[in-house]
Amino acid sequence: MSQVDTPGEKPVIDIAVRRLMEGTPKIELTAAFPCEGPFEVQLPIWRPGRYEVGNFARYVYDMMGQQSDGSWIELQKTSLHAWHVPEEIGRVRWTFFADLFNAGSTGVAADILYINPVNCFLYLPDHQDWGYAIELTDVPAGWPVATGLPQSNGRWQARDVQHVMDSPILAADALTHLQYESNGIPFHIWIYGQDQPNPDSFLADHVAFTDSQIAHFGSFPAEHYHFMYVLPEREVRHGVEHEDTTVIAIGPSAKSQTQGGYDELIGIASHELYHAWNVKRIRPAEWTPYEFAQACPSRMGYVAEGVTTYMGDLFLFECGVVDLPGWCRLMERLLDRHVNNPGRLNSSVAQSSFDTWLDGYEAGVPGRKGSIYVEGAVLAFLCDVRIMQLTGGEASLQTAMRMLWEQFGMERIGLTESDYWSVLNEVAGATDALDDLRLHYADGTEDSWDDLVAAMEWQGLGLTKNHRDGRWHVSISST
Ligand SMILES: [Zn+2]
Repeated sequence: MSQVDTPGEKPVIDIAVRRLMEGTPKIELTAAFPCEGPFEVQLPIWRPGRYEVGNFARYVYDMMGQQSDGSWIELQKTSLHAWHVPEEIGRVRWTFFADLFNAGSTGVAADILYINPVNCFLYLPDHQDWGYAIELTDVPAGWPVATGLPQSNGRWQARDVQHVMDSPILAADALTHLQYESNGIPFHIWIYGQDQPNPDSFLADHVAFTDSQIAHFGSFPAEHYHFMYVLPEREVRHGVEHEDTTVIAIGPSAKSQTQGGYDELIGIASHELYHAWNVKRIRPAEWTPYEFAQACPSRMGYVAEGVTTYMGDLFLFECGVVDLPGWCRLMERLLDRHVNNPGRLNSSVAQSSFDTWLDGYEAGVPGRKGSIYVEGAVLAFLCDVRIMQLTGGEASLQTAMRMLWEQFGMERIGLTESDYWSVLNEVAGATDALDDLRLHYADGTEDSWDDLVAAMEWQGLGLTKNHRDGRWHVSISST
């Protein structure tokens, strides 16, 4: 292709987005690429946070190219997710389905434009360093816009493909905006939805877990952070982490008025903020950087999601948002799912991590696999207690996570399984301190019940299970 020269400046792809509200909700995207054809444009096939093939091309209604005389022609596919742009095509225009409201989707209505560029933006595989300038053409000037992207000249700017694909944009005619600061970092809470959580306690709880997490990591990875809450009237419970934002979707919005729904929101929020370190920066080598055009299996999902699930809940206890009985209930829920899933005795959690790309987000066939969230969190708990036992309480799993942040995350060095386990062993004080846990419960399929009972006992907690009505019921007592 020939590139249009812009001396001294990196080429920028201009993308204009507008809502199409007649019939099925859609968006129309028009991109001006800083080059002339022929070239190929690609749509991501998956999105970070969900380690399976998303096949976003299934939401594309049409893909058109504008010729020099102004007329539009249909572009031909070169693969399921890529299109050929012939010579003399200046702009590309496509229509994308936009009636999905979860934490990683794209959805529009009369009062909202919500996009995750990773499912609807084209990119040029050979020019992933090119920037993006995004214009929301039909969003009224008065609408608040929540995004981590900076704005200049009325357009939202992204450095490159990695940046744009990790930057959701939420614009609506009404967004509640709460703000706080922690360790000098500005934090923003944006809420879309009919019914919303109590702003005072919501803000206070965010401040508490944010302060606590930053104190334990020593520093925060981003210059700012945005919690974007999408509370639609549909059934949804979902959160997705990004570099400097998270989207959390819970619906119907009235759930946020109940104690259970409120607790879920805060639980997801603490989990997602922990991801700002663990997985966004302390990131498996297979996802560093993200390769959006192909499946990228990693055996380390139990670190990405398991450690985050365990630590997200633990920080709620650490900062006082939940008390000890509250933390016990959260662990009971996890252990309940753990003991009732025979799949953990068939596939190791490392193998189940690798296989999320096959069936990680569905029940799958009976008894085949474990959950990276549940089995990963159970393993994280065992590692945490082991490190505390061996160091007399001087160090914990969080000490290791801080070291991983400083040695790998800050430098953006992709993490391997052996890196992870050697840092945990180092913190525990011996090169083989956690080898049995890795062998039995990460790479192996041993039953961990006896070790769990012993670990809880060491914490002063009693763990029991009994079988009734065809399933196990787990109970943790703190007396
Ligand atoms: Zn997560």
